Amino acid sequence: MNSEIKIELTEHSKINSVDFDNLPFGSVFSDHMFVCDFKDGQWQNPTVKPYSPITLDPSAKIFHYGQSIFEGMKAYKDADNNVMLFRPLDNCKRLNKSAERMVIPQIPEELFMAGLKKLLEIDNAWIPTNDGSSLYIRPFMFASGNGFHASPANEYKLIIATAPSGAYFAGKVKVLIEEKYARAANGGVGFAKAGGNYAAQFYPTQLAIEKGYNQVIWTDDNTHEYIEEAGAMNIFVRINDTLITSPTSDRILDGITRKSILQIAKDTGIDVEERKITVSEVIAAAQNGSLKEMFGAGTAAVVSPIAGFGYQNKDYDLPELEKPFAAKLKKQITDIQTNKAEDPYGWRV
Ligand code: PMP
Repeated sequence: MNSEIKIELTEHSKINSVDFDNLPFGSVFSDHMFVCDFKDGQWQNPTVKPYSPITLDPSAKIFHYGQSIFEGMKAYKDADNNVMLFRPLDNCKRLNKSAERMVIPQIPEELFMAGLKKLLEIDNAWIPTNDGSSLYIRPFMFASGNGFHASPANEYKLIIATAPSGAYFAGKVKVLIEEKYARAANGGVGFAKAGGNYAAQFYPTQLAIEKGYNQVIWTDDNTHEYIEEAGAMNIFVRINDTLITSPTSDRILDGITRKSILQIAKDTGIDVEERKITVSEVIAAAQNGSLKEMFGAGTAAVVSPIAGFGYQNKDYDLPELEKPFAAKLKKQITDIQTNKAEDPYGWRV
């Protein structure tokens, strides 16, 4: 494969039309994107080109069979204009893990990283410097090959597009513990970032929103007795001073924020447990006062504190703590991400 990256620069930068002090999440796109095609059994034609619509045949398999995966990551800029990524190889490895499950060809790590770095070099001015803002990066791969036959396509595209973004959630969220729907099943694709997983979440989430909640807490598909994820985030529950998160499985995404928080919490003396969490223990803890915190963890929001939850037509509030683990851990991880603190782990790139 010729891995030299072709560069086509835009003649009309949009950057002056963007209000960097008022960025919504993921809806303003930077000038360029990285595109690479898989054809004739190999990745080819890696190009950084102007961000623009793409043309696909109506029979492209992405439309019919949803053969599509994505990643989410962020680039940050510090006061000295250094650009930093957080554990980017882990995103690439997870993209390839998702790819394997969806019969999409593996993307070589060197090609992924070279394309990403070239894109960030060219769109450097799009990486926000305001506190809490970052350049959200969306790598995705999908079946661009044609045919109505329900089988894997023979052509694919990798695109990396970016969006300068402000904070993801404003304030604390109220969540609904799911009793009927599931986002993933054993043997399924919950561990992969497959597009369809998210489409399948929309309906139950919409029902929860109609009932006045912001998000769904996903429970296992079989018994709905185990708490598994919080929307599109991993979940942490603090009972007394122990921080608990569900172990990853077929059904749970191996979140990079989750494993980083686990590591930081352990190293700063917080008791952590990676084990199954039952709905009944969370309800009992809420009733006896030992439930101190619940929060979601993921790239977009980093840490998203939960203010209360609903279950079986009853609402439970979480206490307002003076020094929640959530805030402490969020600061620790974002300080590493944004070069405000030492990175003893070598996570920052
Ligand atoms: N769970 C799901 C279902 C997700 O989509 C995400 C976002 N990628 C996460 C958890 C959090 O993963 P990460 O910390 O790697 O962003």
